[in-house]
Amino acid sequence: MSFQEVKKNEEELSLDSQISLYDKCWELAHNLWWSWHPDVINTFRDLDPQLWRSLDHNPIAMLRQFTPESLEQRVYERVLTCRINYAYRRLKQYLSERPAWAEKNIGVLGSKPVAYFSLEFGIHESVPIYSGGLGILAGDHIKSASGLGVPLVAVGLFYDQGYFKQQLDVDGWQQEQYLKTDIENLPMTQVKREDGSSLIVPIETEKETIYARVWHMMVGRVNVYLLDCDLPENKKEDRTLTSRLYGGDSRTRIRQEMVVGIGGVKLLKELDIRPGVYHLNEGHCAFATLQAVQYKMEEDGFSFDEAVRAVAYKTCFTTHTPVPAGHDRFAPDLMYEHLSPLQRKLGIDFHQLMAMGREHVNDDREPFCMTVLGLKLSRHANAVSCLHGVVSRRMWSSLYPNRSETEVPIGHITNGVHVPTWLAWQMQNLYDRYFKPGWIDEHWTQEVWQNIYNVDPGELWETHITLKHLMLDFVQRRVQAQASRRGEEDRISMNPDVLTIGFARRFATYKRATLLLKDIERLAKIVNDPHRPVQFIFAGKAHPADQPGKEFIQQVANLRKDERFHGKFVFVEDYDMNVARHIVQGVDVWMNNPRRPLEASGTSGQKAVLNGVLNFSVLDGWWAEAYDGTNGFSIGTGTSHVDTTITDQRDGASLYEVLENEIIPTYYKEDAHGLPTNWIRMMKNSIGTLAWRFSAQRMVTDYMLTAYLPAAGGVTCDMNYRQ
Ligand SMILES: *Cc1c(COP(=O)(O)O)cnc(C)c1O
Repeated sequence: MSFQEVKKNEEELSLDSQISLYDKCWELAHNLWWSWHPDVINTFRDLDPQLWRSLDHNPIAMLRQFTPESLEQRVYERVLTCRINYAYRRLKQYLSERPAWAEKNIGVLGSKPVAYFSLEFGIHESVPIYSGGLGILAGDHIKSASGLGVPLVAVGLFYDQGYFKQQLDVDGWQQEQYLKTDIENLPMTQVKREDGSSLIVPIETEKETIYARVWHMMVGRVNVYLLDCDLPENKKEDRTLTSRLYGGDSRTRIRQEMVVGIGGVKLLKELDIRPGVYHLNEGHCAFATLQAVQYKMEEDGFSFDEAVRAVAYKTCFTTHTPVPAGHDRFAPDLMYEHLSPLQRKLGIDFHQLMAMGREHVNDDREPFCMTVLGLKLSRHANAVSCLHGVVSRRMWSSLYPNRSETEVPIGHITNGVHVPTWLAWQMQNLYDRYFKPGWIDEHWTQEVWQNIYNVDPGELWETHITLKHLMLDFVQRRVQAQASRRGEEDRISMNPDVLTIGFARRFATYKRATLLLKDIERLAKIVNDPHRPVQFIFAGKAHPADQPGKEFIQQVANLRKDERFHGKFVFVEDYDMNVARHIVQGVDVWMNNPRRPLEASGTSGQKAVLNGVLNFSVLDGWWAEAYDGTNGFSIGTGTSHVDTTITDQRDGASLYEVLENEIIPTYYKEDAHGLPTNWIRMMKNSIGTLAWRFSAQRMVTDYMLTAYLPAAGGVTCDMNYRQ
């Protein structure tokens, strides 16, 4: 270190010592950067472990229980001063530097950020504005963009009630509770104009104007803006428009989608943010393109057609849904009521507007499909796994009548997960001992992970078993609390020596949560085998309107009433990021049996990979391109019958066979030291071949190089971009 640097450091240090510990904690708590730094999380927790748990791991809610004096006292008692100072300095440094990857690769994006639109963001359980996979993906995307230094701003909605809290009644029937989040406990500040007044964005419909205020949140280096309609200026029904995620009917939905899309683009203009690229995460946000077209006409004097071309050129659209019914469609009258003011400004007639969302432009009865709008108004469109790409090209081929199915311009970028968020710190510590220094900053390169093969098998196993213990403690605590709430017998004890299989995801019926229950006698035998028993942990929510999904939950949950399954087949209520983290880090096997090819990608199995948990999955979504015969287990052979009953029968049979003939014998076969050597080899194969490929940072580099840079008008300068 040079003299100047030392001097500068000293100056900074003395500056920093003028900031109180309370203020440092407050600043740390107001950038969600903390949520993927285990040492910072542990520092918050160590302030008061019980409070930390009871407040949903929310550092702001926790700090609000202290005064600056009582906090200093606590920090002193628990010897946390150094850790807080260190965390604070690291955050400051993180915010002030631009990563090497960005230096090399951002090119034309430097001054024009990507505007990333999504209806949900799953960043941490304490910020409940997500429901499931789509939101987690958006959260992981922006964290990774922050890590790489990709200039990106995120736009979404603020839901003061979020998605529901799940409890099951005595009959195993799902009950939904909506709790209002105290905004004071969230790391958000309201966006103001220069004169100090609130920034309010108006969104016009034919009958009225909907107003939205804007919240700002920091996720590392990424600014997130969330629109919120709870304002006195709004009609009563509109004040609750953004209260709940996926609540309400299609009228609520179209209004929410106007707020995020149209309101979002208006908001960026108000803030003088000029995006070089629009990225639409799913069709929900596609109205953004129409507002962008209108601005282009107004600002640059473009004709409608010219403006459409210009906006499409810089728009990237990601589709996530392989089922035709899963795409948002709005009836013409609903469209008329909501979009006609914008349509008039665009200088087109209503028929032309509708045509932008129709597969058959002259069919006047056809509703307006948001995915069709997304596809028509973007020059880059992608699915989220290789197989999903094939399915999507087939599904939308009618939009491209002069092309064969393989030429439909929808590619794929396979989803990934944010490694620092989903990797257990205990496992990270183990990798730290074997991988090169600073590997976590390059975790999306293949080379980093090759040292997994040098890790001592005993150490890897021991770390896994530690995580399994922690997970089982968590699950038992939850299950016992659930039982006593229902007035049931609450003592269960799950044995860490038993092969433990996890299954947690939304209870959409295509995910077939009950496939495993098809032959209950056979399952009872598997679970109760005296020498090689198996136990199961299930979790997941059904959409409030999904009766069949709720029946699946009921079937699974009610197994607890059967002697043979009590304490061996458990259901953990209220699946969220916290529950997900525990389960994907601590089970032995992660099971996934959707009806192929309906799982666009799936990401929970990727979280499992990072922690040495083996996947046992239908060859669908990401697993279809990940499985190589040595790095996990497959259910079925990747074929499906036109008759779904037959597909279900075949997959069910395969599931039992692989479980009985491969998984159980491999797991329980120990060497002379009591280690399941073959199993551990598979764990290493899984980590070594998959962890880097299914990292969200790899995913974001793919978006950069194949979508963002071309959309921003640049070319890829460094073909060797993964280095
Ligand atoms: C990762 C995650 C999901 C997505 O999992 P799938 O594999 O897509 O089913 C859903 N919900 C939560 C809480 C998650 O953490």
